[in-house]
Amino acid sequence: MKKVVILGAGFSGLHAFYKIRHLIGKKIDVTVIDKRSHSLLKPSLAEVAFEGAAISHSLVELEHTLTSRGAAFIQDEVVKIDAKANSLTLSSGERVGYDYLLITLGAVKDYDAVKGFKEYGYSVCDDRQAQRLWEKVKTFEGGKIVTGAAKSRWGTRVDAPPLSAPCEGPIGEIMFMLDYYLREDKHLTREKDYKVDVFTPGEIFFEDVGDRPRELIGKYMQARKIDLHNNKVLTEIGKDFIAFEDGTTMKCDLAVIIPPYSAPQVLKDSNIGDEKGFIPTDTQMRHLDFDNIFAAGDITALAQPKLGHVAIIQGAIAAASLMRDLGEDVEIPPHDLEVFCIMNMGGHDAAMIVSNVLYDGKIDKAVYSPISKMMKWGFDSYLYYNKGHMPPDLALEMTDKLVKLV
Ligand SMILES: Cc1cc2nc3c(=O)[nH]c(=O)nc-3n(C[C@H](O)[C@H](O)[C@H](O)COP(=O)(O)OP(=O)(O)OC[C@H]3O[C@@H](n4cnc5c(N)ncnc54)[C@H](O)[C@@H]3O)c2cc1C
Repeated sequence: MKKVVILGAGFSGLHAFYKIRHLIGKKIDVTVIDKRSHSLLKPSLAEVAFEGAAISHSLVELEHTLTSRGAAFIQDEVVKIDAKANSLTLSSGERVGYDYLLITLGAVKDYDAVKGFKEYGYSVCDDRQAQRLWEKVKTFEGGKIVTGAAKSRWGTRVDAPPLSAPCEGPIGEIMFMLDYYLREDKHLTREKDYKVDVFTPGEIFFEDVGDRPRELIGKYMQARKIDLHNNKVLTEIGKDFIAFEDGTTMKCDLAVIIPPYSAPQVLKDSNIGDEKGFIPTDTQMRHLDFDNIFAAGDITALAQPKLGHVAIIQGAIAAASLMRDLGEDVEIPPHDLEVFCIMNMGGHDAAMIVSNVLYDGKIDKAVYSPISKMMKWGFDSYLYYNKGHMPPDLALEMTDKLVKLV
């Protein structure tokens, strides 16, 4: 029996687990290690922050989910990977050996890298921050709101699009959902009570898609009087201002940001990442230097943007590559990435975006409709009630085809 260790039970780790679990007890033992007791479904965090939804619907319990399906689960933080000795060290001091390692540790949301964030900044990127933001939003009586992503810096070992921001979809949700909540639920008026401004570190906002989604987003920003500021690299958040690398500042009573993404410290300490700590892989998600290590999701250098849909595509590829090594007759899916996301815009409004122009493709669609909202609700609920298990491949492929027809 080969020992497979999956590091990180987020989107890609759980997806890969469900893909290989039929081999448990026949060819493999699987151990999943995560420092959290519950996997966090980040796509529904905006509803926690701007609609007061219960956080419990964004959490998937791990111990029972995994052990009842034949895996072992260890809740602990991995602090060292010795790739030459096929061994890991956990924060408890315990050592875990492996024959195959799947690294799906995600990216660190580096709030501390932003001066003043702890005192004055807000975010939506994890369960603590989303709930803290809801407490602030509920009592917000108006003023200047500024939202945007800080600049993230990537390594250069693999050939991936060098995006300025990890993914600006959550910024779209923040600006539209907050505007909706203040207007519809708190009955504030834009002209008199509040104003939303958005910044991007990139030359263009939503640099990971093409013109059509950008035009749609731009149209609704204009209708809601949300102004955009390009090429703004965040340096500091103060009590009543936000400051940028070019020396400019903006008045700001509520700053909601996506912090820079970085690689977990364990990867920097273990010397298995690129110069920024992200894992360099080939397109079959195999580590460039270690044949028995695979990686998928936000932690890979190839994952640009850092998006759940990309994490799922890569998780399936990594699982198939591993199964091929185990002698299984499976096809390894191609590393054909695309941006696919549904952006909540408040109330019944949502926009579904599918685009592959970042990877030299020709698909570039955006569908604004309550149907998009229903699809997001259906997808998030499926994931929650099925313990992080993605809808069947067939359903995902049909959705993909449907959107491309529109
Ligand atoms: C606010 C927000 C909204 C989003 N909305 C969408 C959306 O609508 N659609 C979409 O496609 N994508 C969305 N994304 C992106 C998506 O959530 C991520 O791309 C996806 O979660 C990445 O999956 P992953 O498996 O790579 O990492 P993660 O899901 O982050 O999982 C990593 C796991 O590793 C564990 N871990 C980390 N370090 C250690 C360690 N040292 N030891 C042990 N365990 C560790 C963590 O606890 C975590 O469980 C959103 C992201 C955010 C922040």
